[in-house]
Amino acid sequence: MIQKLLERGGDLVERADVCVIGSGGGGAVVAALLAEAGLDVVVLEQGHFWTSRDFDQRENEMMPRLFEEAGMRLTSDGSITILQGRNVGGSTVHNLCYAFRAPTPILDLWRRDHGLDSISEASLKASFDRVEKSLKVKPIREDEVNELNRRIRSGAEKLGYSGFVTKHNREGCVRSGYCILGCSYDAKQSMLVTYVPRAEAAGARIYANARAERIETLAGRAAGVSGRVVDHSGRPLGHVSVRAPVVVLAAGAINSPDLWLRSDLPNTSRQAGRNLHLHPSVMVAGFFGEPIDAYRGIPQSYYVDEFIDLAKDPHSGYVLMPIVGFPVLTASSLPGFGKRHSRWMRDYARLGGLLVLLHDRSAGSVAPGSAPGRPAISYTLEPGDATLLADGLARSAEVLFAGGAERCLVPFVPDGLEIGPDDDLSVVTGRGVSQGGILIASTHPQSTLRMGGDPASSVVNDFGESHEVPGLFVADMSVFPTSLGAPPQITTAALADRTAHHIVSRSAELVPKRSS
Ligand SMILES: Cc1cc2nc3c(=O)[nH]c(=O)nc-3n(C[C@H](O)[C@H](O)[C@H](O)COP(=O)(O)OP(=O)(O)OC[C@H]3O[C@@H](n4cnc5c(N)ncnc54)[C@H](O)[C@@H]3O)c2cc1C
Ligand code: SF4
Repeated sequence: MIQKLLERGGDLVERADVCVIGSGGGGAVVAALLAEAGLDVVVLEQGHFWTSRDFDQRENEMMPRLFEEAGMRLTSDGSITILQGRNVGGSTVHNLCYAFRAPTPILDLWRRDHGLDSISEASLKASFDRVEKSLKVKPIREDEVNELNRRIRSGAEKLGYSGFVTKHNREGCVRSGYCILGCSYDAKQSMLVTYVPRAEAAGARIYANARAERIETLAGRAAGVSGRVVDHSGRPLGHVSVRAPVVVLAAGAINSPDLWLRSDLPNTSRQAGRNLHLHPSVMVAGFFGEPIDAYRGIPQSYYVDEFIDLAKDPHSGYVLMPIVGFPVLTASSLPGFGKRHSRWMRDYARLGGLLVLLHDRSAGSVAPGSAPGRPAISYTLEPGDATLLADGLARSAEVLFAGGAERCLVPFVPDGLEIGPDDDLSVVTGRGVSQGGILIASTHPQSTLRMGGDPASSVVNDFGESHEVPGLFVADMSVFPTSLGAPPQITTAALADRTAHHIVSRSAELVPKRSS
């Protein structure tokens, strides 16, 4: 059963074996597997239950409807935009379907430096296999690579840069290009059409418009969740109360630590809310000689990995990913206004971008903000990371030119920097990347309730269970001990799969028989 509390009205009072908070990349997997194992599961999801029938491909309607803080979530200094889904299915409803397993050197790093003895490529293989099967992960076919991605591949190959066409989780894709706004064709294998229906079929009760605001404990153990029924803008209406001996926190790496800290849960290591990594990204726009209609077709299929070598240095590097925005998003991503801005927008059909996505050492924090669901997010780029991003901007322009772009625009604020193929790219690195000096975005916040073997330096153990609150698990991107350095959805789901199997194996102990 999936129920929209906004339409039903009233309060929600429930009792279950397990209460899962959040129905996205981690929460939906746990909910489905626990329900299929026979546990009585309630899912609380703050967002609404929208389906393919509601996704109308209009960004002015979809962005406020489907994204956290209407797509305007920012770090406290206003310098970094953080995009996260706020709906049944979470951010997987909006992601671009790059499907990668966690890089082996990163898993080795986690095992070696974070005391995660049971984490390895081999120990996670079964979880990765199950998740990839459920999400129908497969290589992107040659005929599915769109014009922008073809041009970027051609540019990278001319320069001798390493890159490849990736795998994705789409089935029957009609190549509309609207992935970020939700797939109107149910082709994207997001949680909305995979694990959420499985959870529902296995008897989980999934409540949309139910915002968790406090994790309850009794005698030091997890005991349930309280919160509010909320409308589309987050305005509180009725009350929510769920009693459950197992609570799985999967509200994403910004809201999960916010909820943890608001609930006054033990935090002896003082790590809850810290170590925030963002995979921050900056972009360069390229204008080609003829229309390439980059917004049509699969948005991202090629991936340039020349500038990251995790086996050599598991702590840093960056990748380049093709990117294109819809008209409003593009207009707001290009700097300035007036005639110059209008000239760029008139060239929309000839425009295609390249995104520099950083495997960041820089670490920020999340703290409770002015109201539930409005956390205060801090993040400062370390100088070395800023240099890498600036280098990535220059390399992006180089690849776009080699792929046939006639002009590139680096969206420095406020005026933007236009360059041609013969310009010296040191003009880009010389200007550098600073917060507030260029648009910086994140779609991969992570690591704020990190896993680790040592309770003095981590929040949860290798199966996602709190070191200090028995029965409380975390199953979202918060648990990554470091930045992942690769697209995270498959790793998030695989770790959630592992946590779910662990809970099932301990269910006799974790879920005492109910007396009434
Ligand atoms: C635009 C975009 C593009 C992306 N592209 C890719 C890609 O190509 N490949 C890739 O691997 N990854 C990609 N990602 C990242 C991927 O989607 C995430 O790794 C994954 O969704 C993370 O899962 P999660 O469970 O941590 O969080 P989410 O999927 O965000 O789920 C969290 C859920 O919790 C809910 N929630 C939050 N607070 C509360 C509360 N208090 N009470 C109840 N519910 C709450 C939210 O509404 C949300 O539904 C992309 C993300 C975005 C936004
Ligand atoms: S490109 Fe494919 S997966 Fe993306 S919205 Fe269109 S049909 Fe769906």
